[in-house]
Amino acid sequence: MTDPQLWFDPTQIFIGGAWRPVTGGGRIAVIDPSTGAQIAEIGRGTTADIDAAVAAAETARAGDWGRMTALDRGRLLMRLRELVLDRAEDLARLECLDVGKPIGQARNDVTALARYLEFYAGAADKLHGETLPYQAGHTVLTLREPHGVTGHIVPWNYPMQIVGRSVGAALATGNACVLKPAEDASLTALALADLASQAGFPAGGFNVVTGYGAEVGAALAGHPGVHHVSFTGSVGVGQAIQVAAARHVVPVTLELGGKSPHIVFDDVDLEAALPTLVGACMQAAGQTCSAASRVLIQRSIYDRVIEAMARVYRDLRVGPAMTDPQVGPLVSARQKAGVERFLAMGSDLTIAAQGSLAEDAPASGNYVLPTLFRDVPPDHPLAQQEIFGPVQVAIPFEDEAEAIAIANGTEYGLVAGVWTRDGARQFRMAHALNAGQVFINNYGAGGGIELPFGGTGKSGHGREKGFEALYGFTRLKTITLKHG
Ligand code: NAD
Repeated sequence: MTDPQLWFDPTQIFIGGAWRPVTGGGRIAVIDPSTGAQIAEIGRGTTADIDAAVAAAETARAGDWGRMTALDRGRLLMRLRELVLDRAEDLARLECLDVGKPIGQARNDVTALARYLEFYAGAADKLHGETLPYQAGHTVLTLREPHGVTGHIVPWNYPMQIVGRSVGAALATGNACVLKPAEDASLTALALADLASQAGFPAGGFNVVTGYGAEVGAALAGHPGVHHVSFTGSVGVGQAIQVAAARHVVPVTLELGGKSPHIVFDDVDLEAALPTLVGACMQAAGQTCSAASRVLIQRSIYDRVIEAMARVYRDLRVGPAMTDPQVGPLVSARQKAGVERFLAMGSDLTIAAQGSLAEDAPASGNYVLPTLFRDVPPDHPLAQQEIFGPVQVAIPFEDEAEAIAIANGTEYGLVAGVWTRDGARQFRMAHALNAGQVFINNYGAGGGIELPFGGTGKSGHGREKGFEALYGFTRLKTITLKHG
């Protein structure tokens, strides 16, 4: 059994500034995806635990946390950032063992978490309302107020980054947070609760309840004491969360899935693009909402690009996360089975290339070979559905109009990448593409802490990251004074 070197008890949850066991004493096994071995247990929280966490958050916002100035909230977030950096290697190791994230990528996730905390620490006292022109004898001003208690339900693929962007922005604006991490990825969320407590967050400002989505996640999303829900995850659960929140007419931010295209025109600088064309779908073993899982290639250079990508694929090594391979294991046996089902659905397609399994990869790990399919019809299920694994489909196109039609031809709209040296085409494509983010001659995937991020269509609504997130985590109050 690999030792995750925990410095806190992961079977406990963090409510009202204190650790406590879950009600009912249930546990969930924590499995290392690289080996299949159990490395720890977390608590299986209950509805009663969510009730307690929401009550603690409500008390905090009416008390010490609610009275804190924006400047002091920023300073606390900055202190938390320092503690995160002090524990950087421990956090990276936890993530690596918990979700199978290659250790180098897990270190990047810690850096990103620290950067989110830094960004929102600095932004805390920069958000302000406005004064507005109105009738004579009146002064009108707006206030940006926190929603109150915010619920955060997050997935397992980028646990630290998504907590950083969501909880970071919510705390900066003065909300009291209840975080429900994914059952497959709760260790770093619990570690962060420990660090927040060390940083001196007032009791109840930040609470963490672990457990299953259908139990504690659903209880949090539909709780009458929650005033805003930030959800990142799958489309189906996002829809259920929107319905649950609607019972209390509570706003939700939904960051859902994607089927994002890379569009490669024949004037591409192929040497510069090549590592990204493949790499943008291999981060987190393709378990990335913004993974560039469709590669649209202009027909005149189609074979040349496929051959170049195939060479990159043949060099991809899949192995245990701690050995820092280009591609690690999938998060769970269930996720592996799901991706294998998609691979089987591609039995009528041509495989252009695959990666290889490292010799030291245990048979009990959740490994799937990176796979590039070529000549995939745009309406094939593999070109339409989110696979969430290291699988890309290549699709040829003739011209700009066809590229746009194929790119926009899914129910998603999260990210798009365009590779062309033609300046006018860069702008035409950026306007025409149905996506929350368009990258020209680069593909930032989830990167860019400062940049607003979110989707259209079934990729969700609302924006997180950047300054824009601060608007989402506040509500506007308009005050009209008549003074004559
Ligand atoms: P998931 O929807 O199964 O789970 C996400 C979270 O929701 C987990 O914490 C889970 O416990 C909880 N949950 C599950 N059922 C619930 C319910 N009935 N009520 C309330 N909460 C519930 O998603 P996943 O498999 O963990 O993550 C993969 C999905 O997330 C993919 O579709 C991916 O594209 C998406 N994602 C999107 C973004 C983004 O920013 N747009 C980022 C990362 C992942």
